[in-house]
Amino acid sequence: MAIADRMAPLIGGSSAIRKMFEEGRQLAQEYGAENVYDFSLGNPSVPAPASVNETAVRLLRNEDPLYLHGYMNNSGFEETRQAVADDLNKRFGASFAMTDIIMTVGAAAGINDILHLFLNPGDEVIAFAPFFTEYRNYTIAAGGNLVAVPADMETFQLNIDALDALINEKTKIVIVNNPNNPTGVIYSGETLDRLEQVLEKAQKRIGHPIYVISDEPYRELVYDGCELPFMPDHIRNCLIVYSFSKSLSLPGERIGYVAVSPKIEDHDLVRDGIGVTNRIGSVNAPSLMQLVVRECLNDRPKIEVYDRNRRLLYGNLTKLGFDCLMPQGAFYLFVKSPLETSAAFVDAGRKEHILMVDAAGFACPGYVRLAYCVSTEMIERSYEAFRRLAKACGLEERK
Ligand code: PLP
Repeated sequence: MAIADRMAPLIGGSSAIRKMFEEGRQLAQEYGAENVYDFSLGNPSVPAPASVNETAVRLLRNEDPLYLHGYMNNSGFEETRQAVADDLNKRFGASFAMTDIIMTVGAAAGINDILHLFLNPGDEVIAFAPFFTEYRNYTIAAGGNLVAVPADMETFQLNIDALDALINEKTKIVIVNNPNNPTGVIYSGETLDRLEQVLEKAQKRIGHPIYVISDEPYRELVYDGCELPFMPDHIRNCLIVYSFSKSLSLPGERIGYVAVSPKIEDHDLVRDGIGVTNRIGSVNAPSLMQLVVRECLNDRPKIEVYDRNRRLLYGNLTKLGFDCLMPQGAFYLFVKSPLETSAAFVDAGRKEHILMVDAAGFACPGYVRLAYCVSTEMIERSYEAFRRLAKACGLEERK
């Protein structure tokens, strides 16, 4: 076998996701799509706002094709980067320059660009459980090791007390995902200030900066009037990673950006470095989409659909006796396994044709994740299947 040793486990691991995808298809073929309840994927169910397609069509009709489809500065079209900087400065009172914005092939590429810039072989990236499974794969692919901070099983807030002991000379990056996938929890400004205090002390101790990736694909998906703190107001060495996959329902178009906080240590070197790793990894973000998002920065899909789904699914499951976290953001419901293991619970769900993701993959066994970016009608239809599942798990309905 000629492939790199570090990649072999990643290939083995990816088959689990493929298996679930194929399982959904197989169940639909066998029992009819209307009898299958697939809550496994975070693929937006609300279409992109009309402005996205209208802008794309107008650009395709009217723009000079050499400009539209050509190479540009590897960090992106300057007019798009300026528009993103202006938008952030207006919304959050920040002071980003155009050059602080690097357009990327989604948040995934943004995170990869940063990890490739900072990691020497064996360096460590810290993430707070439960975290997006791919962080581990991105870190391994960049030659590093991912260290998981155990979840705070009471609040699912950042377990800052446990973080300090995990930081050492090899620590380069901490990842914070706010709102969080898979819990839907939002971390408050106060929590982030506590994180900064720990990081400041640790940086002095280990003698080099620790950069915080603020992974924000769900920034615009917050409910009940919750406030999402603006990370650079709380964390000095902050690199924002943003995505239009969820905020404009464009996951297949692969468009996002990194915003380098003007306050970070070694600012110019880091900013230029991310431009280089972005060029090496992806050359540049898709040109048409860069020009589209420039004009649609303030447009949103109908996220009230997710809010409706959130209330409906949470209401149904808690009534049936399940323990769930009420999500404040993103579009995932985190449900405690009523069986001894979350793997057994996922299996029991499958028997009722309910597809859920075992949170063991998010470094938090004992829970499962349900993506509610699905049709409201499917959630309504799934009620009876959940009722049977609750019964099979020995739960009693709540009044
Ligand atoms: N980070 C988190 C927490 C996510 O949930 C996702 C996608 O689901 C990503 C990053 C990757 O997003 P993108 O589609 O922009 O690469």
